[in-house]
Amino acid sequence: MPKDTKHPRMPRRCSFCGKPASQVHRLFSGHESFICDECVELCSDMLSHAPEVTVEEKISRIPTPAETKNFLDQYVIGQEQTKKTVSVAVYNHYKRVNAQLQHGPSRKEPADDDVELEKSNILLLGPTGTGKTLIARTLSKFLKVPFTIADATVLTEAGYVGEDVENILVRLFQAADFNQQKTERGIIYIDELDKIARKDGNPSITRDVSGEGVQQGLLKILEGTVANIPPKGGRKHPEQSFVQINTSNILFICGGAFDGLDRVIARRMGAKVVGFEAEKRLVDQNSEEIYDHVLPVDLISYGLIPEMVGRLPVTTALRPLDEAALLEILTGPRNALTKQYSKLLEMEGVKLRFEQGALKAAVEIARERKTGARALRSIFEKAMLDVMYEIPSKPEVAEVVVTRAAIADGKRPRIITHAKKDKKKAG
Ligand code: ADP
Repeated sequence: MPKDTKHPRMPRRCSFCGKPASQVHRLFSGHESFICDECVELCSDMLSHAPEVTVEEKISRIPTPAETKNFLDQYVIGQEQTKKTVSVAVYNHYKRVNAQLQHGPSRKEPADDDVELEKSNILLLGPTGTGKTLIARTLSKFLKVPFTIADATVLTEAGYVGEDVENILVRLFQAADFNQQKTERGIIYIDELDKIARKDGNPSITRDVSGEGVQQGLLKILEGTVANIPPKGGRKHPEQSFVQINTSNILFICGGAFDGLDRVIARRMGAKVVGFEAEKRLVDQNSEEIYDHVLPVDLISYGLIPEMVGRLPVTTALRPLDEAALLEILTGPRNALTKQYSKLLEMEGVKLRFEQGALKAAVEIARERKTGARALRSIFEKAMLDVMYEIPSKPEVAEVVVTRAAIADGKRPRIITHAKKDKKKAG
């Protein structure tokens, strides 16, 4: 930006608000005009809060299932079947939303030739730390729709201590910058759905968080209702006016480990041979693919109420992550852990290298912890703590090498100083 010393004969006042130079901190000059710092700030503010595209416009460009999956591939390793299934479900979901917008939301009676498109809420089954939340979050990022996560175990039937089901909508409303229209196109991820299964339906659940009642409450928003929500949540502000949120176009993705469901499925199936001639195989409780054979009836036996199962028509199972997948997770995704640490140190002018043995050690430890990829972050946080603490006050450091010992035995990562590097070069 040129300095405000040009155009000596022009009145030195802001061309936008008219304030003279003496009343503002800075006056910037352009071609025969000026702008003051206050107007610059105001414009910047307006730009950052301007709606980019209206919600309708956004969903009129529904990404194809292949585009969605391509995006998911950049962040989520493996889980091919699940990525494909949710990409199709999301495509159908927003197509349905669009169809409704075209006809107008108030239309109640479909014409004779109309086929009513039902909502495709999704149920993700799979062990902890295998990417369920990540998939839901990545989807919302791709679609640029608001997103919130709720834990089914903290929900209660309205009126009891805990969190009301409607508070989930409050959080989505907040994530949508208090925009009702955006909220109504959002995605809600409900974690640990298995933990609110009815106890009697499932012998392996030891904790019943008022099971059926919570399911009923959840069902209401899952199937589509108009909820009155206090924009700030809670009941502490009785004076605040309520906002009406229609949940019929909100996409619900539910997830849970559903431990013990394998037994339910296996019991129903018996030991069964599946597949075509060349690849016939026996599926039993111990097969990795057992969850792929889940049917609504199994979920009901497990303790979900039939209406809830009916509202989750898209069910897909995630596989446990093997060593190769965990290794790939460390380096492959766009925001892989190793890339994040490298970037952080790069900002300090320090190069970061991970020995292959270090990555392998982290994977071994993560496998032992049995929490999927979830453990990886804490393993690295621990190994990197000292380095992250010291580097900002040690300009002499040029490079950090994370060794196997740093991960497996709690040793310090190897530090290479500029002096050492120069000596090596000279030698
Ligand atoms: P959960 O299945 O329990 O919802 P998350 O999706 O929250 O698990 O996974 C926890 C963390 O582990 C994620 O933030 C991500 O960093 C990593 N992670 C898990 N699964 C994958 C995967 N398939 N691909 C890439 N990263 C993953």
